[in-house]
Amino acid sequence: MDNKFPGKDISQEDLKNKFPLVAKKNKLHKSKFTVSGIEFGGNILPIFAGPNMVESRELILDIAKNVKRIGAHFLRGGAFKPLTFPYRSKKYNETREEGINWLKEAKKKYKIPIITEVMEEKFIPLVSEVADILQIGSRNMQNYPLLTACAKTMKPIMIKRHYGSSLRDWLGAAEYILYEGNKKVILCERGVSVPHTHRSTSRFLLDLQVIAAAKEVTHLPIVSDPSHATFWRPWVEPMALASVAAGADGVMLEVHPDPKNSAVDPLQPIDYKEFSSIIKKMDTIARNIFKKKIL
Ligand code: PEP
Ligand code: MN
Repeated sequence: MDNKFPGKDISQEDLKNKFPLVAKKNKLHKSKFTVSGIEFGGNILPIFAGPNMVESRELILDIAKNVKRIGAHFLRGGAFKPLTFPYRSKKYNETREEGINWLKEAKKKYKIPIITEVMEEKFIPLVSEVADILQIGSRNMQNYPLLTACAKTMKPIMIKRHYGSSLRDWLGAAEYILYEGNKKVILCERGVSVPHTHRSTSRFLLDLQVIAAAKEVTHLPIVSDPSHATFWRPWVEPMALASVAAGADGVMLEVHPDPKNSAVDPLQPIDYKEFSSIIKKMDTIARNIFKKKIL
């Protein structure tokens, strides 16, 4: 169906002049690129799995071993974390440089590539030493100097959508990265903030519709993060499966061996058993509907 105004808030003029590099050149235009041997936009749906925070050396080594064994393509986890409140305790504290070193060890030992967040320009060289993909967190989606500086490293970049941003603003942020000549850009939907009544503890609503909307206008791969979106473990499986069915090009999942004792957001991680079950179901959907695979 031809749509003169694809996307809710996007015009033909935007596609031509505001984000020409992000915009599809024709209906079949889709970016394909490889990161550490794993292809995005191709026949595999990459899965990123790991804890919210790189809490300790033991934890990250155990998670790396297990998510790799179960079928994840990338290990996720933040050493530098945008924590919502400034108060810290021994348990609730970023591990920063130390955490980056533990990620390095996990990557080497279990041969699993890493995606981790970079929050400040001054830490780009340090984070880039271990990250196969630099993650721009939702809160920094419109931190344009950070986007430009990350883009200049020519490392693959995943840009999480801010929970209050339109598709138009999100694509504008992605354009900043492509503008520097860096073509390995991944979009990640992680839930939007809307008034809703499902449950007082669920802070966000997974915008599944944006997967279809983004695909109308951009060639970039789009990953879904149902963990941050639902903030509630029992809802992660249905939303992960729905993401694959909706056409997501990959899924990010928070996985922790002891979810209730996760240092950050203990309501949302799934354990190894659940991860194993969900990844098999996502693989079934990918194979049957799209002739793609995860495992
Ligand atoms: C994360 O993925 O660790 C994270 C902090 O996500 P977001 O930026 O989407 O809140
Ligand atoms: Mn988080």
